Amino acid sequence: MSGTAFAPDVFTWPSDDPQLIGGRCEACAAITFPQQGSCARCGSLEVVAHLLPRRGTLWTFTTQGFLPKEPYAGGETQETFQPYGVGLVQLGDEVKVEARLTTADVEVLRIGMEMELVIVPFRDDVVTFAFAPVAS
Ligand SMILES: [Zn+2]
Repeated sequence: MSGTAFAPDVFTWPSDDPQLIGGRCEACAAITFPQQGSCARCGSLEVVAHLLPRRGTLWTFTTQGFLPKEPYAGGETQETFQPYGVGLVQLGDEVKVEARLTTADVEVLRIGMEMELVIVPFRDDVVTFAFAPVAS
C-alpha cells in the first residue's frame, strides 16, 4: 500500500507496522487520541506523542448504511457508496479510538473481538486508518 496519509501526525506512515499517534500527558499520564495540545483531564500543556498499540478489542460498533452528509470527504457518490462499519476500539488499557472498520458485516463483528490497525484507501491517492478483525 502506498499513498499519502489523509492527515499528518495521526498514524505513523509510511510504515510496515503503522501505529496511531496519541498523546500522553506528562503530568497525569492521561492518554488521548488524536494528540491534543493540552490535557483534557488536568489542563497541562506537557503532552507528548505516544504510539498506541496496534491491536485492541472491539468495544462497540455500528454500521454506516448511507452516504454521510458534508463535510464527509470520502469521495463516494450515492452510486459507489458501500456501507461500512464504525467502531470504538479499546487499545490496551489506554484509550478508546473511534474508527472505520473494514467490514460492516454484523455476522462477523462481535463486541470484545480482537481488532488490528490497518491502512486502507480513502480517496484518490490518500489513505486512512481502519480496524480489521484479527483472523483467529
Ligand atoms: Zn493531564
